[in-house]
Amino acid sequence: MVWISGWRSQIWSQLDQEFDVLIIGGGITGAGILQQVTQAGLRALLVEARDFASGTSSRSSKLVHGGLRYLRNAQLRLTLESVREREYLLRQGRGLVNRLGFLYTSMRGDKLPGWIFGFGLIAYDLMAHQW
Ligand SMILES: Cc1cc2nc3c(=O)[nH]c(=O)nc-3n(C[C@H](O)[C@H](O)[C@H](O)COP(=O)(O)OP(=O)(O)OC[C@H]3O[C@@H](n4cnc5c(N)ncnc54)[C@H](O)[C@@H]3O)c2cc1C
Repeated sequence: MVWISGWRSQIWSQLDQEFDVLIIGGGITGAGILQQVTQAGLRALLVEARDFASGTSSRSSKLVHGGLRYLRNAQLRLTLESVREREYLLRQGRGLVNRLGFLYTSMRGDKLPGWIFGFGLIAYDLMAHQW
């Protein structure tokens, strides 16, 4: 509907019907909920005060956060939740969510020695059932 020209004025006449779910806010959270509920066969209405992705979602660097930084603070449950969520998004959002390699450097004299970092990455991979 959004792609049809003049949809903003046309939409008002279609609001006089019953919906199963009302979603407030057209950022990524609202878009994600909309996708889930429509996939479940529910009729959903999403309302946006300003414009789609006009809020924080337009600022995001679009990286799917896997929670690696929580591991450093020993927030194990949060890391596990984040990494599981990442794996779920990789499965559910094929074509939208893709793996991206990172190159980390470790210098002599760094606060976090390379071997601790390596150990953390092994623990992190295991949480994701990866190697
Ligand atoms: C610089 C920056 C970089 C980031 N990078 C990342 C990243 O790499 N990876 C990552 O996962 N996260 C990142 N984030 C965080 C991420 O952007 C946010 O967690 C996410 O965008 C929040 O989405 P949202 O849909 O909950 O909120 P929003 O995108 O803010 O959407 C809320 C929407 O609700 C609307 N709204 C509010 N009140 C009402 C109302 N009463 N009626 C109707 N509509 C209403 C607003 O207009 C807005 O459009 C980053 C954030 C910033 C600031």
